[in-house]
Amino acid sequence: MPDGRLFVGGEWEAGTGPEITSVFPADGSVNRVLRGASRQDGLRAIARAKAAQADPAWRGLKPHERARYLYRIADGIEANAERIARIQTRDTGKTLRETRMLAASAAGTFRYFGAVLESMDDALTAQRGDALTMSVWEPLGLVAAITPWNSPIASDAQKVAPALAAGNAVLLKPASWSPLVALELARIVEAAGLPKGLFSVLPGSGREIGTLLVEHPDIARVSFTGGTGTGRQIARQAAEKLMPVSLELGGKSPTIVFADADPDLAIAGILFGIFSSTGQSCIAGARLFVQRAIHDAFVARLVRATERLRVGHPHDPATQVSCLVHPDHRDAVEAHVAAALAEGATLLTGGRRPEDPALAGGAYYLPTVLAGVPNSARICREEIFGPVLVVLPFEDESEVIAQANDSDYGLACGIWTRDFPKAWRVGRAITTGTVWINTYKQFSISTPFGGEKDSGMAREKGREGLRAYQAQKSVYTDLTGRPHPWAADVLEGL
Ligand code: NAD
Repeated sequence: MPDGRLFVGGEWEAGTGPEITSVFPADGSVNRVLRGASRQDGLRAIARAKAAQADPAWRGLKPHERARYLYRIADGIEANAERIARIQTRDTGKTLRETRMLAASAAGTFRYFGAVLESMDDALTAQRGDALTMSVWEPLGLVAAITPWNSPIASDAQKVAPALAAGNAVLLKPASWSPLVALELARIVEAAGLPKGLFSVLPGSGREIGTLLVEHPDIARVSFTGGTGTGRQIARQAAEKLMPVSLELGGKSPTIVFADADPDLAIAGILFGIFSSTGQSCIAGARLFVQRAIHDAFVARLVRATERLRVGHPHDPATQVSCLVHPDHRDAVEAHVAAALAEGATLLTGGRRPEDPALAGGAYYLPTVLAGVPNSARICREEIFGPVLVVLPFEDESEVIAQANDSDYGLACGIWTRDFPKAWRVGRAITTGTVWINTYKQFSISTPFGGEKDSGMAREKGREGLRAYQAQKSVYTDLTGRPHPWAADVLEGL
């Protein structure tokens, strides 16, 4: 376990902000009590970041030289992958099976952005005058990365790797429910020899330290992943200082099963899409539309399969669904289900805590399937961020497109059919950042990711993901070697 000190501009220091308690939600035991970052801690980190970023020792590096740091960080994550996985499991209650994958994916992200950095070109633009015209990309300066608790090491890497690759200094603020794994990342970054000051990890309250990072004039961009309400507030503050922001926000993603789909492929994908990570995933396929012709038989089979999912301790390799991140979050999920039942929903399975006494001390909640409500019901509109699926019937293609699009969110969508042209038409018609056809929740660092509507703006990942952390600059270089004709005559005989 990290010892609870913060990484403030390259120095390990005890925080001077409010206390944060990291809890293992599988049994309620305390992982670590630490003091979060105060405004003063944040200001010190910003000052150190500013000096380090301006230093030619960093700013003057060629891309391939900067890339070496990213490769070393990737190596460090790989060498410590098991430790990172275990810390993250303690911090979030995610299964070890999943946190091992997240650690591997974080290493891959650093390696990928090192490679992107080495292979991105500046551009020579078409010549239209007597000048050589070029586009070059500069670092922005200081970047703040603000991340949620659900997949900390992966979402941290997704922001920190491209922002460092682009030549910036990065200030990372993890969520208070999961402060530890980011501090472990700081240890690895330090061991990789990154110049002091370029990276800080500042767990702390969103209101205090988050607001400081968003509003401070030296922060040139905020990359935020979290709830839509918080994202909207950050966008308002950013507008005041005309600062660009990337916002990766919530979702209520539709999954559509046509009558011609392979039922078992669809059921396995749907279960993974909603119940893996105990539903605590922005892209969770939370609204399931099933074509009327197969609806009843398909839903009955889906419910039976749901009841076979193994709910258990995150350290048990057999576990598919572990606890939620925090007892308070479990209470919130329970309240959503109670409200849905009060609104007239039918409970098909779940809807309660497991009875196994071995799980009694943890924040567990059974995989839950609801039905019998229209798409306008609250349970179909609001993000729950837990293991709760709501099933709706549909008649035909145009109706399901309209229903899928009838949502404030636009993050992801799943389509199950054997008819590829239909999948293509439907996928293109739905307003969403990602479409999965006969699969769900697949990810690749080389494929851009982001949302539409209330699910956010801008894209992360992919080659262009690095450009988000750079400023484009145009350079004109004279090719004539003669004084400008506008003033040439006044120089004659001078
Ligand atoms: P949250 O919005 O409460 O917090 C996210 C981060 O923002 C935390 O670090 C928090 O401390 C900080 N924060 C809170 N208030 C702030 C403020 N006023 N100024 C600056 N920072 C502030 O979200 P959460 O509960 O931690 O995470 C769950 C949410 O994240 C869900 O809505 C989920 O859909 C979303 N999410 C989105 C994606 C995506 O890529 N689209 C991925 C994961 C999670």
